[in-house]
Amino acid sequence: MSVQRIGSNEMLRRLVGFDTVSRNSNLAAIEFIRDYLDGYGIASRLSFDDAGRKANLFATIGPGDQPGIVLSGHSDVVPVDDQDWTSDPFALRETDGRLYGRGSADMKGFIATALALAPDFKDRVNRTPIHIAISYDEEVGCIGVSRLIDQIGMAEARPIACVVGEPTRMSPVIGQKGLHVFRCHAHGREAHSSRTPHGVNAVEAAAELIARIKAISRRIRAEGPFDSGFEPPYTTVHCGTIHGGAAQNIVPASCNFTYEIRNLPGHDPAPLVAEIERHAREHIEPEMHAVDPKAGFTFEPRNGLPAYEIAEDHPAVTLVKGALGANAVGKVSYMTEAGLFGRAGIPTVICGPGDIAQAHKPDEFIEMSEIARCETFLLRLAELVRA
Ligand SMILES: [Zn+2]
Repeated sequence: MSVQRIGSNEMLRRLVGFDTVSRNSNLAAIEFIRDYLDGYGIASRLSFDDAGRKANLFATIGPGDQPGIVLSGHSDVVPVDDQDWTSDPFALRETDGRLYGRGSADMKGFIATALALAPDFKDRVNRTPIHIAISYDEEVGCIGVSRLIDQIGMAEARPIACVVGEPTRMSPVIGQKGLHVFRCHAHGREAHSSRTPHGVNAVEAAAELIARIKAISRRIRAEGPFDSGFEPPYTTVHCGTIHGGAAQNIVPASCNFTYEIRNLPGHDPAPLVAEIERHAREHIEPEMHAVDPKAGFTFEPRNGLPAYEIAEDHPAVTLVKGALGANAVGKVSYMTEAGLFGRAGIPTVICGPGDIAQAHKPDEFIEMSEIARCETFLLRLAELVRA
């Protein structure tokens, strides 16, 4: 059987053509990838979400019982709703050396390159396998990859390195901040607004706590801790949504808001989480309880993703730098799956084609030169692990 090779740009065109916005099934894309790899005799394992609508794919090229290298990317993309696109976001368009389409930079460009090179990997591997890991539901909280990592954990050999191909303009990234999101519900008691002492105003209670969260964020900005590798170089705290109140003449009984902590590696978010809750309990709730003992705050953690850092002289970093011919390393403040691979004990470097500035935007694009640099990197990586 002779198989027609598919180049990286053509593979990207095919992947962009699957509308894998996180709310949709990704199975058509995953089945296409599985069948494509199968055409080269490369076996894939799929792991599904509870509803069976989405799947991760984990393919192994070479001996699966040996420690290998993982090339990792997420299949899902962010929505295009209310975005002004020049052309169909799910039909890859080439203009002036750029490839436009949803997910071209974040991060089907990397996946497409790894897949296009799968036959080359197959020719090169001997003792060290190369795995291609493709997850679902990254953009909505890195949900799918946990199952995928469990699957890797079951393998006989823990990988020696993982490359998460988020767009870094092909420079190696060795640290990312953590992300911890919380939802807070302030419950008060309704009253006519002419009788405010008989009510407990949930909007005002929430506002007092949000003011405290803002004060904490100012304090960290002034006092640190700091890591100049990150921009901004400190942990950030921020409220993103608030909903409360029904009418101007009713003391509102309910207010919900969400906030997040993006912590530096080594800056434990737990004391900040506790400080916010303690402030509510000690400084805001007593006045609420004086009117209604049932009034107060509830806190609900939404998702937590660990910060991640790997030593600059770790062998996995040395390997990636060697394949790139690069010396400088960086750190990023956005979220990737690296924290979850790291927590599973898999040394991970973030490095991929394209620019994060393009991610999630209308007319998202990747430069074809970035795809070409990624090809060179992955082929060199395969040569290095073979040696
Ligand atoms: Zn991404």
